Amino acid sequence: MTTTAAPTVLIVGAGPAGSTLAYWLAKRGYDVTVIDRTKRIISTINRIDIRGAALEVIRKMDLFDAVMQRSLHIARTEYVDANGFAIVTLNESAFGNEEGSDAELKRSDLVELLIERSNDAAQYIWDDTVTHLEQTNDSVHVTFAHRESRAFDIVIGADGIHSATRAMAFATSETDISRFLGCYVALYTVPNYLKLHNTQHMYNEPGATIGITATEKEEPALAMFAFASPRLEYDYHDQQAQKVLLRQRFTASRAWETQRLLELAEASDFFYFDGMTQITQPSLHNKRVALVGDAAYCPAPVSGQGTSMAIVGAYILADELSGANGNCEQAFTGYERRMERYIQKNHAIGVLSASSLVEKSKMSIRIRNVFIRRPLLVKSMYRKIQKQIKDASNSIDI
Ligand SMILES: Cc1cc2nc3c(=O)[nH]c(=O)nc-3n(C[C@H](O)[C@H](O)[C@H](O)COP(=O)(O)OP(=O)(O)OC[C@H]3O[C@@H](n4cnc5c(N)ncnc54)[C@H](O)[C@@H]3O)c2cc1C
Repeated sequence: MTTTAAPTVLIVGAGPAGSTLAYWLAKRGYDVTVIDRTKRIISTINRIDIRGAALEVIRKMDLFDAVMQRSLHIARTEYVDANGFAIVTLNESAFGNEEGSDAELKRSDLVELLIERSNDAAQYIWDDTVTHLEQTNDSVHVTFAHRESRAFDIVIGADGIHSATRAMAFATSETDISRFLGCYVALYTVPNYLKLHNTQHMYNEPGATIGITATEKEEPALAMFAFASPRLEYDYHDQQAQKVLLRQRFTASRAWETQRLLELAEASDFFYFDGMTQITQPSLHNKRVALVGDAAYCPAPVSGQGTSMAIVGAYILADELSGANGNCEQAFTGYERRMERYIQKNHAIGVLSASSLVEKSKMSIRIRNVFIRRPLLVKSMYRKIQKQIKDASNSIDI
């Protein structure tokens, strides 16, 4: 009896997309290697959401209870003025959230769970990356930064919004395949000096929103700066340059806690900065290389949909690959077709969240302040938004 070797796959990126894909492809008989440029997951307090079909995938991975146990929730949002006085405090119920229909947890907790689930069946390589890809008719020859090159049957880019795999396999620049939604977001850890507990404070000035959120009094808090801007030129890998950029943007702002929060950016142990950008890659595959998650169809950071899309996309891609009997191009085409409507609907949520991230003028802030003092109006508006999010999150068959 002859045995055929398992098809080999290299997944670049061990985030939510890469680790979910590793689990499902290993389960379906693939020989899976995952490579990530970081040393290993570092515990951070920034949160991501999982909703709709993505929660169904989490359930199928037997991770639902573990995810729910780690779920966090922000019970109160306090809108403050330039002197820090509360304009209004809204409780969770004001936003029309439905309990159990979504999960919000630390990104690092989720990634840890997903990697643990696939660790026995897939090989994880840390602290390395891919520097070159060369496709032949029946394999992809991969050159690594720190180990010997190797051929794989297929390669999947799960390396996030600024995907290097995408740049290597599609020879396109990020500007060509992205839609910038007009603002930037910085998120970073600060000491919880306001002693917040399951609470966020939000301050608006024209063109910017500044916030601080904490779940536990003893844990660090998360500072947020969002600001409207044209596209900026900066190095994605250079956090120091991003901190300078942030400081320069807010140097004149003396309101509320702005200057104190800016000073604390220097010492933060976690710092995230990115543009509200959607990835609109026209085709998700090129011969034996395909893209999944933010690398393929990021709906925009802070849209709240990126992680769900990454998990769902990974599941659908593995499903198509397992049914295509080694014909990866057929599988990739099926994956693209099944994802099309889901991507479209979730990109619409990305646009919606980008448009509500900052208020444009003093007048629009005044109008917003009148509006948020009317609980029934607030609830009715958030119910409508929740419905649209729920619809987008469930707009695919698992
Ligand atoms: C450290 C980090 C913090 C984040 N924080 C937030 C946040 O606070 N708010 C928010 O909205 N979104 C955040 N995101 C993005 C969010 O997690 C994603 O939108 C979402 O989870 C989609 O997941 P993904 O797996 O497609 O991509 P990502 O979560 O971006 O994961 C990509 C993975 O690929 C790895 N990688 C990247 N480039 C390479 C390379 N060249 N070679 C090898 N490995 C590579 C990264 O280390 C990462 O592990 C963050 C992403 C990261 C990496």
